[in-house]
Amino acid sequence: MIAFIIFVFGLIIGSFLNVCILRIPVAESVVLPPSHCPSCGTPIKPYDNIPVVSWLLLAGRCRKCEARISAMYPMVELATGLLFLACYFVFGFRPEALKWAIFAALLIVLTITDLRERILPDKVNFAGLGLGLLLSLFTRPVDGTALWLANHLFAYPPPEAALSFGDALIGAGAASGLLWLVAEGYFRARGREGMGLGDVKMMAMAGAFLGLQRGLLTILLGSLLGSIIGIAVIAIGRKGRDFELPFGTFLGAGAILVMFFGSPALDWYRAFAHV
Ligand SMILES: [Zn+2]
Repeated sequence: MIAFIIFVFGLIIGSFLNVCILRIPVAESVVLPPSHCPSCGTPIKPYDNIPVVSWLLLAGRCRKCEARISAMYPMVELATGLLFLACYFVFGFRPEALKWAIFAALLIVLTITDLRERILPDKVNFAGLGLGLLLSLFTRPVDGTALWLANHLFAYPPPEAALSFGDALIGAGAASGLLWLVAEGYFRARGREGMGLGDVKMMAMAGAFLGLQRGLLTILLGSLLGSIIGIAVIAIGRKGRDFELPFGTFLGAGAILVMFFGSPALDWYRAFAHV
């Protein structure tokens, strides 16, 4: 029953994320005006605005003008519902689950705006960075970097909240710093921009949620996904060599994988490397 409520709640949040995806990149309010058909402008009635269900019932068309309505809408809603459900099952009914559900929602918005328009809105990145730092105060530290540092600096261990906040700060700084170095290096070497500052800001946000180790793992995974898909796209020959890949989308996909599989992956690495 709780699982079902969380899933439905995720669908409703997903519906709101669709509004964010459409309106934040063009600097429109996410509250007003209410949803309307992008084709004929007719306001969407509440009974036609039920996540996933309405799109299926209307066969993906506007009730008034029958213009096609993108399958992106039900897919974003379903993805949000499923990710919220996964957060509940993996992290339990604890503050951690709320933190990761909020992170998932932020990543969905960034992943889709980057895919559609190559935009990673500052509003989402900075709001996310603030939320990541804030939520670290209410969740247990898992990264361990702040604890390691504190053990070398202080005689007595600081409170858990301070360690968790420290992990978030270090994660934000390290993940964004590394990407900034790569972007700067590429720019100096090639004389043109290879990666936008949006990716750097996105990783500051993601690093605040993930901490140092998982933040770096996300960059590794995102780069790997980007390379594989980039090579595939060029090999198929549908886009030229100068086709701009949505790096933020790959970072987002990497971050979602790290969210759920980062801990077992790091445990396995430590056992493997005997550290
Ligand atoms: Zn219409």
